[in-house]
Amino acid sequence: MEELKKIVITRQGRKFYVKNADEDFHTQYGFIKKDDLKNAGEGDLLKSNTNKEFFIFNPFFIDLYRKIKRDAQIVPLKDIGFIIAETGINRESRILDAGSGSGALSCFLAGIAKEVITYEIREDFIEIVNKNIDFLNLKNIKVKKINIFDNVDDKNIDVVTLDVPEPWNALDSCSKALKPGGFLVSYSPSVPQVADFVNALRKNANLVYLKTAEIIEREWEVEERKVRPKSSGLCHSGFLSFARKVRQ
Ligand code: SAH
Repeated sequence: MEELKKIVITRQGRKFYVKNADEDFHTQYGFIKKDDLKNAGEGDLLKSNTNKEFFIFNPFFIDLYRKIKRDAQIVPLKDIGFIIAETGINRESRILDAGSGSGALSCFLAGIAKEVITYEIREDFIEIVNKNIDFLNLKNIKVKKINIFDNVDDKNIDVVTLDVPEPWNALDSCSKALKPGGFLVSYSPSVPQVADFVNALRKNANLVYLKTAEIIEREWEVEERKVRPKSSGLCHSGFLSFARKVRQ
């Protein structure tokens, strides 16, 4: 298969990822001829056989990101945005993440940080993450088969992100990995997990607890004067708890 890697988008914002250059591209709005796809320039207007209009451009990081393979429950974008804002992750940051799951959080962070190291105990997930890393062409992320409860290979970390069922068991290893002032963020879907995590944090002399929050995104529908919240969407994902390492 000859690769194309293009995005086509309708005027209504329906987006499609076209990757095969050898075939016409079929959608519910008719098909676009393969030669039209191949010969089009950035931002060109294309028409399907049913005269539906499409614009074509090269994918951005986020377009490819939305196509990654997902197996484990991933951290949604609204929560990733909050993690980045609260910890100030930027191009200088070294991040340790566990468990990798599908790598959704770690791959997104690798797009903006200096380096991401992600720990996972399951071989099948390690394979998925490595596929996603290749697909996104990320060079600054490493997956290691390590149990975050047992030990850490990595030191001098700015931010540790945890998405494991029993995050309170990882406090000592996370604390060892972090540099003083570094952030620990834990994502948990349920309330008892938050209680156990925060209670354990409060007993840990090397970490100070900052806060727990939940991010709610409510999308609205805007159709002429029919303007109201959408009646479906993602209701609950998880709670985010934040702490900082204070001493060695
Ligand atoms: N944040 C990920 C999803 C993580 S799902 C994403 O956005 O894609 C939780 C993962 O943690 C699972 O894959 C599980 O195998 C892994 N895991 C559970 N306990 C672990 C541990 N002690 N050390 C490392 N990984 C662990």
